[in-house]
Amino acid sequence: ANNLRFQVVEEAFKKHALDVKAPSERPSEYFGKYVFNRQKMYKYLPKDIYDKMIDVMDNGARLDRSIADAVAAGMKQWALEMGVTHYTHWFQPLTEGTAEKHDAFVEHDGKGGMIEKFSGKLLVQQEPDASSFPNGGIRNTFEARGYSAWDPTSPVFIIDDTLCIPTIFIAYTGEALDYKAPLLRAIHAVNKAAKDVCQYFYDDVTKVQVNLGWEQEYFLVDEGLYSARPDLLMTGRTLMGHESAKNQQMDDHYFGTIPDRVQAFMKDLEIQSLELAIPVKTRHNEVAPNQFELAPIFEECNLAVDHNMLLMSLMKKVARKHGFRVLLHEKPFDGINGSGKHCNWSLSADNGVLLHAPGTTPEENLRFITFIVETLMAVYHHNGLLKASIMSATNAHRLGGNEAPPAIISSFLGTQLTEVLNHIETSETNELFNLKGKQGMEIDIPQIPDLVVDNTDRNRTSPFAFTGNRFEFRAPGSSVNCASAMIALNAAMAEALNSFKERVDAKIAKGEDKIQALLEVLKDDVKTCKPIRFDGNGYSEEWVKEAAKRGLDVEKSCPVIFEHYLDESSIKMFESTKVMNKKELEARNEVKWEMYVKTVQIEARVLGDLAMNHIIPVATHYQSKLIKNVQGMKEVFPAERAERLSTRNMKLIEEIAERTERIEQLVEELTDARRVANRIEDIHERAIQYHDTVCPHMEAIRKEIDKLELIVEDGLWTLPKYRELLFIR
Ligand code: ADP
Ligand code: MG
Repeated sequence: ANNLRFQVVEEAFKKHALDVKAPSERPSEYFGKYVFNRQKMYKYLPKDIYDKMIDVMDNGARLDRSIADAVAAGMKQWALEMGVTHYTHWFQPLTEGTAEKHDAFVEHDGKGGMIEKFSGKLLVQQEPDASSFPNGGIRNTFEARGYSAWDPTSPVFIIDDTLCIPTIFIAYTGEALDYKAPLLRAIHAVNKAAKDVCQYFYDDVTKVQVNLGWEQEYFLVDEGLYSARPDLLMTGRTLMGHESAKNQQMDDHYFGTIPDRVQAFMKDLEIQSLELAIPVKTRHNEVAPNQFELAPIFEECNLAVDHNMLLMSLMKKVARKHGFRVLLHEKPFDGINGSGKHCNWSLSADNGVLLHAPGTTPEENLRFITFIVETLMAVYHHNGLLKASIMSATNAHRLGGNEAPPAIISSFLGTQLTEVLNHIETSETNELFNLKGKQGMEIDIPQIPDLVVDNTDRNRTSPFAFTGNRFEFRAPGSSVNCASAMIALNAAMAEALNSFKERVDAKIAKGEDKIQALLEVLKDDVKTCKPIRFDGNGYSEEWVKEAAKRGLDVEKSCPVIFEHYLDESSIKMFESTKVMNKKELEARNEVKWEMYVKTVQIEARVLGDLAMNHIIPVATHYQSKLIKNVQGMKEVFPAERAERLSTRNMKLIEEIAERTERIEQLVEELTDARRVANRIEDIHERAIQYHDTVCPHMEAIRKEIDKLELIVEDGLWTLPKYRELLFIR
């Protein structure tokens, strides 16, 4: 057949796995090959410059401009030895993804020739032509230009022939135009707040680190099949498609054997990741067919975010090499498990203590309980904001679906930790704590068994679950920059810890014993944040009602959820922790609403086109065939017999007529809805209008199309079907 669908299916079946050669060295040797890490700094920088760089990286010392030239010279030497010709500031604009502008090292030498040049000035600061990046009017409001500035805490790396320099991207007046700047501020805020709280328990803590271990889920689709689906190509997801007879009911894909072509892709990706110092560790099949997951060992949060951004672009590149396309969309296939990016998050102190892990003594467990309860306080007070931080037009399709967390933020603790908190809540403080002569004290916090660390008691769909020594924020979607969630979470945590310390200190100042003061405040907080704790079935209707009663945010509309960034409590929190000010928040929300509108707009256009140009013609074609058949029956059979024998075909002819008519009607309404929405000046209102009037039409159109897919002759259908997209690899 000259049907593209069958051509690409046939080709896909013929493809073989690429042969990926593993480097001859061991991973520990090629790890970080393309990164200007400490080892290379030591080799390429003068000793005093190296020491200063380490001080900047480890202790947050200010970057002295005077060392920039020497650092740049060392970097340039290494880069040239590696065959690099260009450099770029690499930054994370508010659209998802990263941006870069490449410049060659060469400059005129003034004598008619060229010379490789890379100065400290070029390393430290640049002015990307950034007018094309969304900025929510920040630059209109504040200052015409923005600049990118080096983030020395994240090492530079090489991609192909280019030296990439991680940078923040800010307006000249200091407002953040990216994700990294507020992330660094949030990390700074939580470091300070946690360090202060640590003083109650330890006297040797000088720094608290934020840990992030993300888990990247994704789908792989054969490139040929992908290109025969304009919806995947243009929007990253299928806008139509009936579930295949075999889905994920069998769960046989999960941890099953990884197919050869995919295995080769993974191997290639892992080698390249390790060369870029991304510490990838686990790979496995996910729940859905053709869905997979990759996770590194956790790292310092800022670095982990950069590594995830880098990994996502690497995945796209490597997938193409292997004849695949990687789908990072949160819900590429309706009715099938979506993709998330679980963010495993914890705090650890520089004395080696993991603050979210239980200890072996009652004092240590008091510290553990403190960090757990204050995390819950942060999540409770800002559950709407945290939801906003992970919400997007694309993730909205995933939340609440198969295997995904519901769109209400709550926290699952497991039975053991729940018992401990209940004990604290119900006991009198003086029962929990006794001064026992000279020997000091006794804290009656039940021993927290090691079992908690290996927590098997898991509720896999909880949006924010305690998993032994960390919280796993499961709501973030697979396509996003985790910085968005990390900014909100860390800033909220900083606020909770600051408030905690203030209240404890007030009691101590009144002469109360420290432990007594800690326990009293904790007891209050356990009660306050109780509504956020939920161990039940998040999918049930009762939970939605119950959550609303508890005062948790149960809103479903994405553009309305974004409003939480401008809640009084959010502004206060971001301003008091110096992470973002009100104007930045307002401007960033404009970007969010704008991106929402654009996403839905493109989807609506693509769906309208496909419906009119692919689906209706194909359905009509099939209908004509049926009509001919019915007419033919009349020629070969007596009228009554012919009629009886054509009953089914007559029904189909009618059904096709009705469905195509409805599709035409709905597409017209869809276009009208867009037109009306587009006339709304205010971007916030426009986004809401898109959500309320455009999206429902898309769903209705899809329903009709999916029904047609079931009845139209398979040989005529032009778009690769779910079973082909999902089971061919
Ligand atoms: P899962 O069973 O959910 O797939 P994994 O064991 O694969 O979990 O770990 C998921 C991620 O959590 C990994 O990146 C891992 O390094 C990270 N992780 C483990 N412990 C911590 C911690 N204390 N803080 C932050 N991340 C952690
Ligand atoms: Mg997980």
